[in-house]
Amino acid sequence: MRIHCSNNVTSSTISTAVRAVGAWTETLTEHGSRKRDHAFELKLTGTSNRRPNGGNRGAGDDYAATWDQWGAVIAAIFAADPEATMTYYPSAAAFDAFTRYRFDGGILPDDAHGDHTFRHDPASGLHKCTKCSAAQDWQALNGAEQARWAA
Ligand SMILES: [Zn+2]
Repeated sequence: MRIHCSNNVTSSTISTAVRAVGAWTETLTEHGSRKRDHAFELKLTGTSNRRPNGGNRGAGDDYAATWDQWGAVIAAIFAADPEATMTYYPSAAAFDAFTRYRFDGGILPDDAHGDHTFRHDPASGLHKCTKCSAAQDWQALNGAEQARWAA
């Protein structure tokens, strides 16, 4: 995914966060950005039971990073640059609302586990994991996305 950020976020910021969650960088390259100081292209592998989407065929035996591994890495990037913007998450506020602050502090949550099983909960409107406290607020994320395009 593409991350546009200030110079407060370096490749070292990202690789440190990735190591901290037990994941690996499959791709970490720096690029120019019209929106911010620079951009990174980041692909992770990790401890999911799933293969990466559209993964590099050479990566053969590697597994995707889990939602929690990605979440903690993204939170660490937003902690270093609250104005960062990236694929899927237009702002730190949108990410926090979508993940319901699960990744505060940029660390793996206590109840992190392999792959969540998200199910829609009509009462709350959230998608909640059937096995842990993880939840996704798609309404909040879609609202933030629409506000970005309207701006
Ligand atoms: Zn779960």
